[in-house]
Amino acid sequence: MSFTLKILGCSSATPTTKAHPSAQILNMEEKLFLIDCGEGTQVQLRKYKVRFSKIDHIFISHLHGDHFFGLIGLVSSFHTLNRGKDLHIYSPKGLKEIIITQLKITKTQLSYYIHFHELKGNEPILIHDDKKLTVTAIPLKHRIKTFGYLFEEKQKERKLNMDAVLNHEVEVCDYRGLKLGKDYTDNNGNVIDNSVFTSNPSAPLKYAYCSDTAYYPEITKWIKGVDLLYHESTFLDELKELAIKTGHSTVKDAVLIAKEAEAKNLLLGHFSARYPNREVFLEEAKLYFNNVEISEKGKDFIYNN
Ligand SMILES: [Zn+2]
Ligand SMILES: [Zn+2]
Repeated sequence: MSFTLKILGCSSATPTTKAHPSAQILNMEEKLFLIDCGEGTQVQLRKYKVRFSKIDHIFISHLHGDHFFGLIGLVSSFHTLNRGKDLHIYSPKGLKEIIITQLKITKTQLSYYIHFHELKGNEPILIHDDKKLTVTAIPLKHRIKTFGYLFEEKQKERKLNMDAVLNHEVEVCDYRGLKLGKDYTDNNGNVIDNSVFTSNPSAPLKYAYCSDTAYYPEITKWIKGVDLLYHESTFLDELKELAIKTGHSTVKDAVLIAKEAEAKNLLLGHFSARYPNREVFLEEAKLYFNNVEISEKGKDFIYNN
């Protein structure tokens, strides 16, 4: 199986013609999840041909403008496009009041219903659970209440070995039991071990989004072994003091979290505008960690097993 992460924006603070604030689309198990929604996100969605109608879940990390100022525009465009399906929005407390106030003052009666899931507390919270995957909100450490999000595929059923199944003339109604790991009893009463008919399924994939946050090793136990960790690295290590003051991370902080969490891959983002050449983030990270890449708007990052 695989998942694809499309970066719509990965810059911190003010948008410019070249720099777009945080927003990304995760495609996991055929579902599209919008993570953060900085200003201009709907334009980026159009530019990269993401269908609005496929977005039913939006995850906002925190209420700094570079992570949600695009939301009212998108909510409004869904209405203009005559959306009928419910929309789920997850965020720290306060977003519902902001969006409702904007709709009220502009006298907008939406064509669809929004479920606001406002998050609080200092422990991980399971916020979405369907047949194929779960999403957990992870508390981060920033200047205001902030959550990261962990997306996890569920364990798959065992894979059928069709040659063995046909050789033993297993009936179709027994396939399900085999996929669930049961042994097989043939017509003569012989019990045949499940391993004859099946093999291990691929391991479930995991993706963790952690932005914005200061260095916060507490999270590593919650995101252990993720296939991909997106971690903010607003500054290079030379500005460690500024990172501490503003509740952000340096490249080195992000690498330390990735190592401690035993992340298989690290993706850096939320870059400060003071670094026009983003390769410097990669160069610094490569000193400490091999499987690292830098976010780039419009780029797809694909992971599989
Ligand atoms: Zn930010
Ligand atoms: Zn912030």
